[in-house]
Amino acid sequence: MKIPKNCDVLVIGGGPAGSSAATHLAQAGIDVVLLERSTFPRNQVGESLIPHIWKFTDMTGVTEKIEQEGFLAKAGGITVWDDKIHQIMFSDFGYKRPGLHVERDIFDNILLEHALSCGANILNQVAVKKVDFSNKEWPQVFYTDKRGDSNNEGTIRCQYIIDASGHSSFLANQFKVKQTISSQFNFLSLWGYFKNSRFAGVDRQSYPEEALITVKPVTFVMSFEGGWVWHIILRGKTSVGLVIPSDRTKGLNKQQKELFFKQTCSQLPYLNKLLEPAQFIEGSLQYRPDYSYYSNNICGENFYCIGDAAAFVDPIFSHGVQNALYNAATATVAIKASLKNKTKRLRYSQLCESRMQQFYGFSRALSLGDYGCNGVNPELVKSLMKTLPPLELELILVASEMTNRSENFKKLAREAGVLDQSYVGFSDRKQERIKTLSF
Ligand SMILES: Cc1cc2nc3c(=O)[nH]c(=O)nc-3n(C[C@H](O)[C@H](O)[C@H](O)COP(=O)(O)OP(=O)(O)OC[C@H]3O[C@@H](n4cnc5c(N)ncnc54)[C@H](O)[C@@H]3O)c2cc1C
Repeated sequence: MKIPKNCDVLVIGGGPAGSSAATHLAQAGIDVVLLERSTFPRNQVGESLIPHIWKFTDMTGVTEKIEQEGFLAKAGGITVWDDKIHQIMFSDFGYKRPGLHVERDIFDNILLEHALSCGANILNQVAVKKVDFSNKEWPQVFYTDKRGDSNNEGTIRCQYIIDASGHSSFLANQFKVKQTISSQFNFLSLWGYFKNSRFAGVDRQSYPEEALITVKPVTFVMSFEGGWVWHIILRGKTSVGLVIPSDRTKGLNKQQKELFFKQTCSQLPYLNKLLEPAQFIEGSLQYRPDYSYYSNNICGENFYCIGDAAAFVDPIFSHGVQNALYNAATATVAIKASLKNKTKRLRYSQLCESRMQQFYGFSRALSLGDYGCNGVNPELVKSLMKTLPPLELELILVASEMTNRSENFKKLAREAGVLDQSYVGFSDRKQERIKTLSF
């Protein structure tokens, strides 16, 4: 397909944020072009999805395609944090639909193909290199087209740009506004995949992979030495990742990192039981150093940064994909309104920015303890708490008891008055504190 010379909206990146934004716009009859530098399906980490995603997939009409794929349905999560064990079940909070454990290459590809089927122009292997904003009405995007054997430079003009480039935060880097959360919050992630792992079941027992036909899995999370580890069973392999202070692997080469990863996994209680019969998939170790960042300039009159391009929050509560889908919905409402009424486009972008910052502030307060305060507007977070449906709020309040990361969040909840008499902390039914796990 030829790359057009202009369009209404140009989206950078085809992950969940970009593909959902392109779908919303195409469904509204807007001329949208999405440029993705890799070839889909492409690998991506972040396999645990919470049930909140369904309201966004319903909006874009992709729910049925996701359901047809048959991803593993997860019932909730078990955490072992500072030796305290907790279990949470989505169904106890009124969620009729499950969370999911998804292979992200397949999940993200479903969303991108859906955007295409809705009329978005999708081009893989085309990397955006620069955006020139000197013409405010029609910014110019410079790209390199690497399709086939080509390596052609080209440009495209558009009225609005959506930056959904993930952790490369294309525009935040071009504007030089990307900030790390705190010099003290210095973490990285190492993750890899195992074959034949056992998994944590909804009844807190561990099971061999074959039992997935009859037993619903849960995501297993555990703290250790200042960091934490995840175990997410997928179809045919298991994702295991460490989130650790960066200095732990300082100076280690790739081989040494892999050794560190394997040794850590084999030494951690519970996790080592789950992995006892498992084999590490050689070559699967990956690494992400730029952990948790934000920017205070994510929307402007002609640009919107969404998903990880805008901010990244430690994924301890699996908020990443949900945030990406939420941002896509919010930004495209603002763009649709701006296309209809250009004189108000700055105002729409400001409203959108405060909505998205509110959402990120909420996630950061929940996940990052005191570190999460920088750049967070506490009043915005409190107002979001007050507007959440009661069961959704209760789920989050209960989740905030599961780790030691949510002190800041609980303080804001108290100030917002949502931690009143009706909330009694650990209710036996909704959140069980468990003495042991039979792994
Ligand atoms: C270690 C780790 C664990 C995580 N675990 C979870 C989890 O369990 N649950 C969860 O919900 N989230 C998790 N996340 C977060 C989640 O993966 C992200 O929030 C999510 O992928 C964000 O989607 P996105 O569309 O913004 O970006 P991405 O999925 O990163 O997509 C961005 C796309 O943009 C493309 N791109 C980049 N630059 C350019 C360019 N210049 N031109 C064209 N294309 C470009 C990339 O190729 C990519 O395909 C985790 C993240 C990490 C790092």
